[in-house]
Amino acid sequence: MLEVSGIGVTYGATRAVTNVSLTVDRGAIVSLIGSNGAGKTTTLKAIIGLARNQRGEIRLDGRRIDHLAAPERVGLGLALSPEGRRVFPQMSVLDNLLVGAYLRRDGRGAHADLERIFAYFPRLRERREQVAGSLSGGEQQMLAIGRALMAKPQFLLLDEPSLGLAPIIVDEIERIIREINTDMKVAIVLVEQNANLALRLSDHAYVLEMGSTTLDGTGAELLASDYVRRAYLGV
Ligand code: ATP
Repeated sequence: MLEVSGIGVTYGATRAVTNVSLTVDRGAIVSLIGSNGAGKTTTLKAIIGLARNQRGEIRLDGRRIDHLAAPERVGLGLALSPEGRRVFPQMSVLDNLLVGAYLRRDGRGAHADLERIFAYFPRLRERREQVAGSLSGGEQQMLAIGRALMAKPQFLLLDEPSLGLAPIIVDEIERIIREINTDMKVAIVLVEQNANLALRLSDHAYVLEMGSTTLDGTGAELLASDYVRRAYLGV
């Protein structure tokens, strides 16, 4: 279980996150919805170790991890697919995927996972020798997810996977997130501005407002909440 308890993150004088708490059970899909600048990306960065929480605690199966460097957290089973995809544009699709496995010692396991990822994303297999910068936005998103999966995570952090993608590609990403969760038994922490998509997918969801988690419930409960509908679903 991944537990974030009352974390706060400041960048210089900016308080990006003031009080965020959330729990992610193994195998669950949990999402974090909120407007621009609410602190969603910073929360994921704090979980993976790319931002430091000055207050609060982050625990994995009861063990405190918030003092560990990012690679150590990856070694413990966390991986991030960052906002804006951030693939290495000059490198081939295959090399981008292999970078995701660089901390692994089980070469054979990594090879099997590569095959599995190609099975989820046939377009990545077709384009494996192509440089990543020449892929479409949707393909780059798939590559970023595939690269994170190559670390063999138990908790996959997905930052805005639907951002800037055409509706038909968003449907495909939604299907892939469900498949990764059910077939690979990977828990997902999903950050999305597309609240509809996030709540449809989620076992549990949190609303983040001005750096604090203010409301939570099952995906279905939040989809039915008048407040969430008005503030985040444009109903
Ligand atoms: P978005 O969806 O727009 O990325 P978000 O909910 O993910 O929004 P964050 O990116 O976490 O929000 O940003 C939270 C606040 O922290 C914002 O006010 C942002 O300007 C600020 N912030 C984020 N990163 C930094 C940084 N590296 N230095 C200074 N301020 C930052």
